[in-house]
Amino acid sequence: MDMPLPHAERFFEIRFESIGGLGAHAAGQVLASAAVLRMGLNGAHFSSYGSEKKGSLVRSFVRLGQAELPIRTSAPVEKPDVIVVFHAALLQNPASFAGLRADGTLIYNARPGPAPQELAALPRGARVIRVDALGIAVRAKSRPNAVLLGTLCGAFPFLRADVVLEELTQEFAGRHPEAVASNERAFRAGASEFETLEAVGRAQGDLPVAYSEPAWGYETQPLGGIIPAPGNTAWNDLSMSRTGWLPLLDRGKCIHCGLCDLVCPDQCLVWADGEEGGKFERELMGIDYRYCKGCLRCIESCPTAAMAKSEETPGLADRLRVPLFPGLIG
Ligand code: SF4
Ligand code: SF4
Repeated sequence: MDMPLPHAERFFEIRFESIGGLGAHAAGQVLASAAVLRMGLNGAHFSSYGSEKKGSLVRSFVRLGQAELPIRTSAPVEKPDVIVVFHAALLQNPASFAGLRADGTLIYNARPGPAPQELAALPRGARVIRVDALGIAVRAKSRPNAVLLGTLCGAFPFLRADVVLEELTQEFAGRHPEAVASNERAFRAGASEFETLEAVGRAQGDLPVAYSEPAWGYETQPLGGIIPAPGNTAWNDLSMSRTGWLPLLDRGKCIHCGLCDLVCPDQCLVWADGEEGGKFERELMGIDYRYCKGCLRCIESCPTAAMAKSEETPGLADRLRVPLFPGLIG
């Protein structure tokens, strides 16, 4: 028998807080399709993101309601019943929790350990669920979005896990049939291997909604179009885009041919210049993992297997990082 929606009179609203590359948009699409096409609910889904680049902020919104409840908005979900945070680094941004209802649920992806202090900003009555989505995804050879969808269904039985899994399977059966079994493993593990944390939030009532105001308007912008704090891609940190894997360089096997550099989309390989026998030489020194999004193209291109795929364990990237701009960012 179908479980009823928690609220008959309004929409049940979900917001995915994510980073490009972690699959939040696909997860929202699968969930809404399952609800509308297979559970007889009314629903809508859309995402907002800037440049379609791994590492940029992505928000995905899902509204679900009774079949007869008309949808009269396509605005972003500002007062969610559930927030799913795809990467623990996003917990540092208060906007990730904005608008969470006093009795809402926060699901976040992190390894076991003490709850981050930022979670004290959650409502006192909110349910907080942690799942090691990345660890499960690596084990299941899948992706965090399949795990987090499983956790969401495990936490809310009215989102029928069997039906959402059917939709997930259909989504992948055509284009990536090889991923169906691994996604199912990840989804099922996500639905059961999560923990509910007690007494985390301290705030009273619903959290305030965050409206994005432009920093400058016609009254406040500096005269002459001056930009006093220019941005620079050197400050970017793409570490969050990696989904559990990174390339490791074995300098003993490297012949410094530069093929990895040709395919690396983020130019994170660090070279030293020199001269040998009157000839200009360049030597690959390592990888600046600050800019590495874990696409692993460098491994595919390497003719000597000097680049190898490795699971990213805590602190590994920091230990092996060779800074690209040592004077600027150490
Ligand atoms: S492709 Fe392989 S051998 Fe060539 S520079 Fe890169 S790591 Fe070294
Ligand atoms: S995995 Fe390799 S190719 Fe991809 S961003 Fe990192 S260093 Fe560059």
